[in-house]
Amino acid sequence: MKEGLARARELILSHRRFVILEHEKPDGDCVGSSLALALALEKWGKQALIVSDDPHPVIYDFLPGQEHFTRTGYLGLADFHADVAIFLDCGEPERCGRALPFAQKAKYWVNIDHHVSNTKFGDAVLVDPSAAATGEILWYLFGELGVNIDARIAVCLYVAVLTDTGSFRYENTTPRALRMAADLIEKGARPQEISELVYEAKPLSSVMLLGEALQTLEIHAGGKIACVSVTREMMKKVAATSEDTEGIITYPRSIQGVMVAVQFREADEGVHVSFRTRRAVDASRIAETFGGGGHPRAAGALIKGKTLPEVKTLVLEEVRRVLEQNPDLVVKA
Ligand code: 5GP
Ligand code: MN
Repeated sequence: MKEGLARARELILSHRRFVILEHEKPDGDCVGSSLALALALEKWGKQALIVSDDPHPVIYDFLPGQEHFTRTGYLGLADFHADVAIFLDCGEPERCGRALPFAQKAKYWVNIDHHVSNTKFGDAVLVDPSAAATGEILWYLFGELGVNIDARIAVCLYVAVLTDTGSFRYENTTPRALRMAADLIEKGARPQEISELVYEAKPLSSVMLLGEALQTLEIHAGGKIACVSVTREMMKKVAATSEDTEGIITYPRSIQGVMVAVQFREADEGVHVSFRTRRAVDASRIAETFGGGGHPRAAGALIKGKTLPEVKTLVLEEVRRVLEQNPDLVVKA
């Protein structure tokens, strides 16, 4: 981290035009981090543009700094210029999907992330899997670089740590994460207001989609595996957007005795599989078997060229195998 920090500092201070990349289907950590970074760069008089193929989920519309955000479709690649590309929350460059060509126009790459599966790509690498969120690494970076965290930046970073810790419930809820939250509250983030905006202002379609998905709930391996599916047809039926799938997997995971929760979702490019694990099963390693990645307890993969039922058979077989025959994937708690 020290070396990455020095290099990132040098790259940031000596350049003017920055492009910020998020992973596909950006989540609260991604959105909060990229907006906080854009606002910080703005304070230094730098030009910062966040480029994503996907929109930001509407629940984050209240966050400041959105004027720095643009989608790939509104931007011509030919006349796009940037000196430095900063990847946030992306374990590998390809995670930013169709925004990658914009990063490729920059001379230098900075990689800021907390995924264990991060490939450590780029010219400056700030990867810390012990960080609760990518936003936590930014909070640290801002401290080191002497950025004045104002209320606007504080709200963005608070959303990053709030969402990635599952409202300070997951095992990444470390003293550091809570110290960060306390610091951000002192700097102007309002926890009650933010929680209400993030968790209690959902579009109706998301709750309707949850209802559809829960009807597909299946229990396997004597209660250790629970899975749900989200099909294109269901999405159409309730007029759901892809962000409405967020959070569905917390329901199968919440069932007593379930060690691995799996969600299958029909996406444009294939079937996206999400994994959530408990009791020390390594989700990231299961996802890696299918070309994906993530964290020890939350990971995902995109499987191309197969139907949802085919993917389901394949994945459930692997999860069963992991649970029954591969004790080395079960890390001691
Ligand atoms: P989710 O299941 O909510 O989509 O993602 C859970 C975690 O796994 C996130 O940290 C996310 O970055 C990671 N993840 C999800 N899908 C993929 C994927 O297709 N490839 C990789 N490398 N990571 C993924
Ligand atoms: Mn994250």
